[in-house]
Amino acid sequence: MKKTLLHLVVLSCKRASFLIEKQQGKPLSFFDNAQLKLHLKLCSECVHFQKQSLLITSMLKSNHKSNLTEFKLPDEVKNRLKKALDEKITIFL
Ligand SMILES: [Zn+2]
Repeated sequence: MKKTLLHLVVLSCKRASFLIEKQQGKPLSFFDNAQLKLHLKLCSECVHFQKQSLLITSMLKSNHKSNLTEFKLPDEVKNRLKKALDEKITIFL
């Protein structure tokens, strides 16, 4: 979603993607949940991101059921993913 007045009222795609990831770890507050739901009704890119994120999480859980809490990506991989996500996210800001 391009940066518009809507981002000032609702929330940015960057914040929405953060909440999507956070939601998979623990429930969101009422306010965050309401903002995310509203954003997802208006932004197809974040809906797509949410679907991909849920798929990745379910794949990780199914592949690492026994030691999911011990599963950690190497720092190098984390940094590459973070850089790639930051570049993609800034397109929508
Ligand atoms: Zn968005």
